[in-house]
Amino acid sequence: MAAKKLIKNGIIVTASDQYEADILIDGETISSIGFNLSSADAEVIDAKGCYIFPGAIDPHTHLDMPFGGTVTKDDFESGTMAAAFGGTTSIIDFCLTEKGRPLQDAIKTWHDKSKDKAVIDYSFHLMIGEMNETVLKELPQVIEKEGITSFKVFMAYKNVFQADDATLFHTLKAAKDLGALVMVHAENGDVIDYLTKEALENGNTDPIYHALTRPPEVEGEATGRAAQLTSLADSQLYVVHVSCAEAVEKIAEARNKGVEIWGETCPQYLALDKTYLEKPNFEGAKYVWSPPLRDKWHQEVLWNALKSGQLQTLGSDQCSFDFEGQKTLGKGDFTKIPNGGPMIEDRVSILFSEGVKKGRISINQFVDIVSTRVAKLFGMFPKKGTISVGADADIVIFDPNHERVISASTHHMAVDYNAFEGMKITGEPVSVLVRGDFVVRDKQFVGKAGNGQYIKRNKYGATSQLKQNQTLSI
Ligand SMILES: [Zn+2]
Repeated sequence: MAAKKLIKNGIIVTASDQYEADILIDGETISSIGFNLSSADAEVIDAKGCYIFPGAIDPHTHLDMPFGGTVTKDDFESGTMAAAFGGTTSIIDFCLTEKGRPLQDAIKTWHDKSKDKAVIDYSFHLMIGEMNETVLKELPQVIEKEGITSFKVFMAYKNVFQADDATLFHTLKAAKDLGALVMVHAENGDVIDYLTKEALENGNTDPIYHALTRPPEVEGEATGRAAQLTSLADSQLYVVHVSCAEAVEKIAEARNKGVEIWGETCPQYLALDKTYLEKPNFEGAKYVWSPPLRDKWHQEVLWNALKSGQLQTLGSDQCSFDFEGQKTLGKGDFTKIPNGGPMIEDRVSILFSEGVKKGRISINQFVDIVSTRVAKLFGMFPKKGTISVGADADIVIFDPNHERVISASTHHMAVDYNAFEGMKITGEPVSVLVRGDFVVRDKQFVGKAGNGQYIKRNKYGATSQLKQNQTLSI
């Protein structure tokens, strides 16, 4: 079990501050922050030359998820281990439901997938595929008993996950009453279905047609529609994986009108572009996910949206499939390529290297985007998402100057390729603690499957109270 630990000489960075101080950890939480702290029975950890960040939180993962007749390569063990190497100490995974099946059954399935496997803490969002009396009756329990306070609605994947507008609208209204945040995958699934059929009829089967049949307009249209329905329902909305200018515009427009709408982007949209889908020998399939990669100029729009606060978070949308044997299922028909990529490990480092190091965002914005804002939006703050007395000791000791090249040969995900292969980045976690215990120490894995705890989250808009018996000593 976690004993006392004293982290000295590091520079603490939160979403609002940056200062040099020591951190005393007692058990699972931070018990003191101050100058020249000492403790006779604490193990001292020297963090000289390093930043101390609150553990990053990934709001968007798909681990051990069935899709298109196969299952993601990374499960809750390999996925959370890779996440930890990247500085992520909590994830929120998507629990998929099926029409006509009790929500509790689906939640149980996700608990079974994760319970003895996760090495970091985890929580679930719940997919809503239909809205009726039975579902409505179950929702209060989902919130109170399970602490699941975010519901995901798909506007795409026709005949699979896609919900109609009435379901989205009804979910928005229910979420408002219950204190939950509605998340949308915003692409127009009907139009994608039309364009896809047209492409196949014309014999256009290569991976690039995945992008060409899901143009930015279908994302912009769905984002705008979801925003309008949110306004009409007087509810709150979180748009996942925003990839293009068209969607950013709709989010900004709604926010300017006072609609409570939040936007997440992903590292792949900030660092990769549509030309990757044209790689020869079917390698373009490695970059097939939805929404698709865009023309390069969209990247700067997304960076500016993060900088200006029009987008607020970064999810990985981790959904990994091997190239050999899984992505290759779509040879000769791009619609059969499993959608998704391996992103959980490098999310934080890419934002630091491409964002902070290149002067696109501040270091405090970086912390907010990968951790603090996520904790606030999804009912985990201030237990998670910051460094403060009484908070969980989820801590990343980060070397800001270490240079490395991303590669599948050195990553920790179970998948056989890395979408960012060959990318040079600066900055890397050295050690990572979850609730006071090292999971990664000096870049070595020292965690254990099953040590990750399930996080019951607070309602949207509510913040948890820290324990009252702790005193601030700074
Ligand atoms: Zn996703």
